[in-house]
Amino acid sequence: MSRSVLVTGGNRGIGLAIAQAFADAGDKVAITYRSGEPPKGFLAVKCDITESEQVEQAYKEIEEKQGPVEVLVANAGVTRDQLLLRMSEEDFTSVLETNLTGTFRVVKAAAKKMLRARKGRIILISSVVGLLGSAGQANYAASKAGLVGFARSLARELGSRNITVNVVAPGFVDTDMTRVLTDEQRKTIVGQVPLGRYAQPEEVAASVRFLASDEAAYITGAVIPVDGGLGMGH
Ligand code: NDP
Repeated sequence: MSRSVLVTGGNRGIGLAIAQAFADAGDKVAITYRSGEPPKGFLAVKCDITESEQVEQAYKEIEEKQGPVEVLVANAGVTRDQLLLRMSEEDFTSVLETNLTGTFRVVKAAAKKMLRARKGRIILISSVVGLLGSAGQANYAASKAGLVGFARSLARELGSRNITVNVVAPGFVDTDMTRVLTDEQRKTIVGQVPLGRYAQPEEVAASVRFLASDEAAYITGAVIPVDGGLGMGH
């Protein structure tokens, strides 16, 4: 059965791999993008998740063109790395504003219709560093840890209406976000990963698709690591 899926930040990186995985399975997939040319094959809606009006407008367009969102993947996220004493308040709040408050905006808009439909799947993309911590990423790690508390609260709030809310926590994935790291940094990271390599975006997408499938109907409030073993024990 073809469902109406929305992937925020589905225009590149992990989000694009997730969008492609749903499209390949026959779902109707909307993606958000902020600038440039979005990839073909999806319903591309221009939307910055830090702007409430743009989120509202995006949902309107998606509902008109492919129906109310039945599967939401809140994937859009940013980093603004800095050691604490050099981290400005803006560095901190802007990352929280996108990764946490932006996710709140898109989830709230989707949940409204899911509650009415008495079904839905919400998947949030966190990160291994949300629970592990990461020097130089206090803002990012705080935002990603925040997603876990957010998801688990919603799992309790929405569960009786047949809506599941889960978190996928990737480790290091080969995308634009990690391409800024130096070879030296990459080597150090890979040295700490039991599987000894980065993940491909498609490997994250596979877990997201599973959580949205019928087989995962009894999984909610879970944090699924896709991190090559990097975060084991957390
Ligand atoms: P990229 O930097 O490659 O892509 C980020 C995506 O988020 C882009 O599509 C971008 O859109 C979108 N985005 C950022 N800010 C906004 C905003 N305000 N409104 C709408 N869209 C926005 O990152 P990845 O693909 O690597 O990461 C995807 C998610 O996975 C993020 O949440 C990230 O934190 C998480 N993650 C990534 C890991 C990695 O190693 N790469 C590891 C663990 C988690 P635009 O093209 O318009 O900029």
